[in-house]
Amino acid sequence: MLVTFIHSHSSPHRPPPGAALGDLSIKAPFPLPEMSFLEQGDSTSWPSPAMTTNAEISLGEQRTKVSRWTSQEDVEEGELPGLEGGPQSRPAAESTGLEATFPKATPLAQANPLSEVGTPTTERDSLPADCTASASGSSTDGLDLGIEFSAPAAWGDELGLVEERPAQCPPPQVPVLRLGWDDELRKPGAQVYMHFMQEHTCYDAMATSSKLVIFDTMLQIKKAFFALVANGVRAAPLWDSKKQSFVGMLTITDFILVLHRYYRSPLVQIYEIEEHKIETWREIYLQGCFKPLVSISPSDSLFEAVYTLIKNRIHRLPVLDPVSGAVLHILTHKRLLKFLHIFGTLLPRPSFLSRTIQDLGIGTFRDLAVVLETAPILTALDIFVDRRVSALPVINEAGQVVGLYSRFDVIHLAAQQTYNHLDISVGEALKRRTLCLEGVLSCQPHETLGEVIDRIAREQVHRLVLVDETQHLLGVVSLSDILQALVLSPAGIDALGA
Ligand code: AMP
Repeated sequence: MLVTFIHSHSSPHRPPPGAALGDLSIKAPFPLPEMSFLEQGDSTSWPSPAMTTNAEISLGEQRTKVSRWTSQEDVEEGELPGLEGGPQSRPAAESTGLEATFPKATPLAQANPLSEVGTPTTERDSLPADCTASASGSSTDGLDLGIEFSAPAAWGDELGLVEERPAQCPPPQVPVLRLGWDDELRKPGAQVYMHFMQEHTCYDAMATSSKLVIFDTMLQIKKAFFALVANGVRAAPLWDSKKQSFVGMLTITDFILVLHRYYRSPLVQIYEIEEHKIETWREIYLQGCFKPLVSISPSDSLFEAVYTLIKNRIHRLPVLDPVSGAVLHILTHKRLLKFLHIFGTLLPRPSFLSRTIQDLGIGTFRDLAVVLETAPILTALDIFVDRRVSALPVINEAGQVVGLYSRFDVIHLAAQQTYNHLDISVGEALKRRTLCLEGVLSCQPHETLGEVIDRIAREQVHRLVLVDETQHLLGVVSLSDILQALVLSPAGIDALGA
């Protein structure tokens, strides 16, 4: 893995762990990061793109397993505009050299107490009160983001506001029953994916070849957002040189929050983007309520990873080496679904994959957040902040879906340096999109869950828009819904609705 640390002149050159290759190599079995440094002075030039390496590390017999399922999957992170290749250049999950061998459950996962979330009973009881309390108590409750700079509490998760490991998996409960799921969860084999994810670790899902960009908190935010674009990544861990620790993540959500907060008009330059350091932004926005980064250990189960992502409503989960503190990988819903999709073909096929989306009720069908194609981008940003959804179906006057505007699309404003023009319409912004990476991929209610999962995995998207035959919007089926249903619901855990 190539780690690029981007810092400013003014910050002390005390890089995050990963530079000490000698030490880390002793600590294998985790992939060894290779570190490079990009110093950002006062020049206005963009940070150089990092090179991706393909550093296969010999990890011994037992660990040559599932991580070899692909060496390219992290390129899913490299989907930014104007960068090497488009979707075509990324290998589809099916073409990643998947070995015919079934991945063995790692001893780490088997030893992990969280992987022992047991087989739920099949009684149709509601969740006991204490379970609900334990689940909701680990969210962002208690966060005080201040009055003047108040933000939806959940946004704080993206900024690493929630406590580290805040969302301990609650004990197994009865299955969460949602519409057609109740029948399905009673059937034998309904827990096959739950068990699979309990038996494998985050290490198993980590790529052997990836690119990681780390920002020093003293870096100017404008340069940080440009660096995301230039390096083709969607998020970067934040390294505080003074504290000598990772203190959060910088994601596209932050870019949206900065624009939402400081944009005035096309005629007024956003001074704060030009001047503020990441540290300044965090101080203003977080109002001193700094909480540790939400992260996971490579030895934690993939079940725990799914739970942590969904429960904390984050889309990027850094995997930290518990000994050195180095960031080894950043897990995403896409990565986890792809892992399940590839190896799921080797598992007994559960009957629910043949039931329709309509029967199973997987997804969101009410109170949908949408944006009109004629609305300005600023309106879309307002909705992102208010509703905290990751994408908005774009509809025309007749209510038909004509596109999808995702949070990811907002980074195009940085790529094209057009973040001063938030008055252009969403429809226009979609036309200007250089690469149509997350176009309006849809599904219909009569399609089976298996078909929907196949399409999501094949297209490497985070969600499908559910439409009828006339393209009218019916719902959204996202990876959160699918992972919740496949992995958490069979354990009686509702991290999405809690
Ligand atoms: P995501 O953040 O996309 O993984 O989705 C989290 C939850 O929000 C899932 O239950 C989605 O179905 C739901 N969701 C996603 N997009 C929308 C939207 N535009 N309107 C309402 N709910 C949504």
